[in-house]
Amino acid sequence: MNVPLTIGDFLERAALIYRDRIGAVDEPGAPGSLGRVTYGELHDRARAMAVGFDEMGIGAGERVAIVSPNSARFLISYFGVSGFGRVFVPINYRLNAEEIAYIVEHSGTSVVLYDPDLDEIAQRVTSAKWIRLDGIQDAELFDPDRGRSRDPVPWQPDEDATCSINYTSGTTSRPKGVQLTHRNCWINAASFGWHMGVSDRDVLLHTLPMFHANGWGMPYALSAMGGRHVVQRRIDGETILERVEQEGVTLMCAAPAVVATILAAAEARREAGRPLPDGQVRIVVAGAPPPSKTIERVEEELGWEFVQIYGLTETSPLLTINRAPAEWDGLERADRARLLSRAGVPAVGVKMAVSPDGEVLARSNHVFKGYWEQPEETAQALEGGWFHTGDGGYEDGPYIVITDRRKDVIITGGENVSSIEVEDVLYQHEAVAEVAVIGIPDDTWGESVLALVVRRPGASVSEQELIDHCRDRLAHFKAPRRVEFVDSLARTATGKLQKYKLRQPYWEGRDRQVN
Ligand code: AMP
Repeated sequence: MNVPLTIGDFLERAALIYRDRIGAVDEPGAPGSLGRVTYGELHDRARAMAVGFDEMGIGAGERVAIVSPNSARFLISYFGVSGFGRVFVPINYRLNAEEIAYIVEHSGTSVVLYDPDLDEIAQRVTSAKWIRLDGIQDAELFDPDRGRSRDPVPWQPDEDATCSINYTSGTTSRPKGVQLTHRNCWINAASFGWHMGVSDRDVLLHTLPMFHANGWGMPYALSAMGGRHVVQRRIDGETILERVEQEGVTLMCAAPAVVATILAAAEARREAGRPLPDGQVRIVVAGAPPPSKTIERVEEELGWEFVQIYGLTETSPLLTINRAPAEWDGLERADRARLLSRAGVPAVGVKMAVSPDGEVLARSNHVFKGYWEQPEETAQALEGGWFHTGDGGYEDGPYIVITDRRKDVIITGGENVSSIEVEDVLYQHEAVAEVAVIGIPDDTWGESVLALVVRRPGASVSEQELIDHCRDRLAHFKAPRRVEFVDSLARTATGKLQKYKLRQPYWEGRDRQVN
């Protein structure tokens, strides 16, 4: 028998077995917050969405986007959109109107669901139908009674159909649409859930943006098991600690910058003589290799288990995992932390390799189908039957260690910034003759964006003017934090920028060029 693997399976199962159990706790006080929602209600609301899209004439394969911070409605939409054969397009809500418009248009999205905080953007982007997630405009779309009383048009399940298109900044100035199939997402979720031992007793705090690679697939895995989702709308260390206490959180996924804010909040509590939450939390971190001191502090000061994973949006994302095996139980904390600072061993069903010139390669059932409408980029990424990660690294026994990024991508606060995109914007300024944008280490954000600029002869422009120029045209997280003026930029004989040379002075004394 060959039964198609589709992500609708996950919520179907939870609603069948755990109908009356609280499946999600929405952010209290957020506009249109749903409060505490049972799995039965999550399921009925997802069905209502499908009925609504049927009525709007949006068929299987058509795109429905969302631009929103984490919310219960976002969680429902994973299933209400993809679970019935439509393609989900989660968009980074920190992008500006022009960047969002590009994604909406490029993906051919018919409907955009948006958070009330983004009214201004909704007014400016006129393509597609925009629905405000405020509990009023979207009341019918999410009405659980409609989901119970009406049957959506059945979808012929197809595991190779595209489940979501996740736009990611990469080596081109425009973001690329990563098409993940139902099979990709299903297998990634099963593997991730398996490695993390996810069970119906787990309580997941959503400290990772739901738009980022579908929350790494953890929302699917947890729903399948009937665990509880706790929505975290904005990142704040103290609020995270409070949620852990109040909701009995056992699991979270986060970028290193989130770990830093939790540790700072814990330190503030200790100084004020306030207790820290007790109970075991497994915290899964990716985006950059965290310093081993940070890992040690998480385990020592918070008493949480630290797990590192490595992957990309294109790989759904789980490629490698570093979760301490039984053999490390008796180790000194510092030794254990040092071992945990490597990216990890291949997850089940993943094959990893390093090319002769040091690029990390991967093969697995959760490597993507291709970039949306970019066949050449797709062929390049999958050349030779391996996915080319663009990351530099080496093998340490079965462990993969990531040492640098060969692609022109900077990761700041867990989000990708394409250097080329920022360079394009700087070149639009009349005082700029030449520019190179690089990532440099930053204690808070992992890496921060630095622009090295050669001014046109006779032109005068200040650092702040160039930063403002970028902030006016790009999402703010992409704008350089610093601009340095230089006389010339290192180039190869053929005129190509030698970024590794330009980066060198800022990374001196470090064994890795990713942070
Ligand atoms: P994204 O597609 O936005 O999830 O970004 C993927 C990129 O994040 C990878 O290509 C790496 O450069 C980086 N990355 C993810 N996890 C790790 C990790 N554990 N260590 C080092 N870099 C990582």
